[in-house]
Parts: sequence; C-alpha cells; structure tokens
Amino acid sequence: MELELKPLNLPSDSERPFVIAGPCSAETEEQVMTTARQLAEKGCHMFRAGIWKPRTKPGGFEGNGEKALPWMRAVKEETGMLTSTEIATPEHVELALKYGIDILWVGARTTANPFAVQAIADSLKGVDIPVLVKNPVNPDLELWIGALERLNAAGVKRLGAIHRGFSSYDNKIYRNLPMWQIPIELRRRIPMLPICNDPSHIGGRRDLIAPLCQQAMDLGMDGLIVESHCNPEQAWSDASQQVTPDILDYILSILVIRAETQTTENISALRKQIDEIDNSIIEVLAKRMRISREIGQYKKEHGMTILQTARYTEILEKRGAQGSLMGIDPECVQKIFEAIHEESVNQQMKVLNSK
Ligand code: PEP
Ligand code: MN
Repeated sequence: MELELKPLNLPSDSERPFVIAGPCSAETEEQVMTTARQLAEKGCHMFRAGIWKPRTKPGGFEGNGEKALPWMRAVKEETGMLTSTEIATPEHVELALKYGIDILWVGARTTANPFAVQAIADSLKGVDIPVLVKNPVNPDLELWIGALERLNAAGVKRLGAIHRGFSSYDNKIYRNLPMWQIPIELRRRIPMLPICNDPSHIGGRRDLIAPLCQQAMDLGMDGLIVESHCNPEQAWSDASQQVTPDILDYILSILVIRAETQTTENISALRKQIDEIDNSIIEVLAKRMRISREIGQYKKEHGMTILQTARYTEILEKRGAQGSLMGIDPECVQKIFEAIHEESVNQQMKVLNSK
C-alpha cells in the first residue's frame, strides 16, 4: 500500500534537524517545569515526556498518567514549546488530545503489536495530529511499515518514524542495536517519510548520545528525539541515558550537518564511474548465468544432480580468500556468492525441467 503523506511541519532551525527533547518520564510538576524551562532557554522547540511508561517488569515507575497531563499543558503555555508523549491505547489518545498534546508517538513495544496499533489508528480517525512511529522492538521492517500503513489508512497523514534500535539477547555496547540498514531501507521504500533517530534508547548510555546523533545526521536522518532531564542521575526511569539540557545543547552544537546533495563535479565524475562499473558487473553476471545454463544442460544430459556441494564450498572459500586479499570483507564476498549461486541453481533447475 502506498502511503499518502503530508509534511510533518515540525519547528526546526533552518538546515538543522528537528529536535524533540525532554525527560523519559514526567515525574513531578517541578521536574517537568524545570527541565522544560532549561530546554526552552537553549532554543528547543519541542518537549517530550512519558506519561504512561511501558515497563519490562512490574513494580518500576509506570508513569503518572492523567495527573501529569496538566503539567504538559503548562509547559506549552509557559515556554511555547510543542509537547509530545507516547500513546499505547485509545484511552491514552483521548486523554492526550483532551489536554492538547501536539505530537503523539507510538512506542516500540506497541508497534510490535498490530492489534494495539489498529486500536490506536481507529481512535485517531478524523484527527489531524503528527504521529511518530517507533520501530518495533524486533528487527522487522514490514511490521514497522505495517504500523505506518494502519495509521495512514485511518487518515493520519502527518506521519514520521523514530529509529530507536532493536533488542537483542547478547548486546555489549548498545542497549538496542541500531541496525542502520533497517532505517536506510525504510528511507528507500518510503522516501517522503521523515525519520528521526532516538540515540537515548539505542545507546542506553549518556556517552553514546553524541556519536549516535552524528551518525544519524551522516545518514541523512531528519530529526532527533533525545532524553533530557534536569537531574539525570536521579531520574525515575532510564537514568543512565539522560543528559542535562546543558549537555544536550553542547551535543547539538558540535553536530556536523553535511549537505545531502553534493554538487561538485568531482563527485558526479566518480558516480559516473560507479555506474559504469555496475553496468559491467551486471554484464559479467549475465555471462556467468549463461555458462551456468550450459553446465545445467551438461548435467541434464549426464544425469547429474544440480547441487555439487564440494564445488560450491570451493567457490565460497576461494572467492572469500581472494576478497580478503583485495580489501573486501570475506563474509561480504561469501554473501554475494551465495546470492549468485542461488540464482545459478534456479537457472539450472529451469534447464533441467524443460522438455
Ligand atoms: C521512551 O521513549 O521513553 C520509550 C519508552 O521508548 P521505546 O518505546 O523506544 O522503548
Ligand atoms: Mn526512556
């Protein structure tokens, strides 16, 4: 299904990514207001805070619920920042709208559940509000796109995506693996969809926020959603990944934003070379397939099986080693040859099965 999108129209300083910042959770009125004032002073236009918190285990701080919504309204009235929060049920949607929340987001655990997403989508029929959809906890691009499609089918046109990384059982550096190829593929599939990065939930650690923000910018992401708290060490949730508004301001100030379209002749000449090389790769591949079909014919006439395992292993090893000598990761070379081999087998099957 093709998405029908409208621009998010979120406030940002020209040429800079849009930034949504604020604490993981709205803990107390004082914590919300202090953090919001400090962020507004640093020029932040959009405030985030969790009102309902999905916790892995019961007993943690599960958010203040409706009680905290007037604080968000006060943030908007006093600082002029737009406010945003996570919604996971139709009741959350109703309450968020009632208190004038400006931007909604669907959390990673919710995106993974089509029933929950459908219920949210149904509750948003006829409402024009920007909705950002976090990637599901599991690395499943179709599920992520599915959630966007459900919302879009319900009439939500101002849609965006949040890349917050993917859970894994064995994870040393990141809290959630970034697996950048997934948001990159999302960009390829839905080019008009704004994607923002959530370095806080990917990194899980304060010191990873800056490098992750830079990486997201280098990959052409449109915005950032970063957890910022007036007193991070004392935060009631996600204490290790929050930064003060001061630190956040510093992190944003050192971000290098590169122009996406390079206009120098230099790069277009290089791109031309790449196009020519890609062209030869396809021609060589087509030639390889033709020979492979001839081998298929031979196998057919001599009653041989298509798959000759020893030969296949030899190809993978030989080319892997060659790649390695030539500065290409042998695993990458093996993957390429696995794909080539698969297509070769398909072509030989056709020869074998033809009359
Ligand atoms: C959050 O943004 O505070 C949050 C709970 O994020 P996620 O859904 O990415 O875990
Ligand atoms: Mn959080």
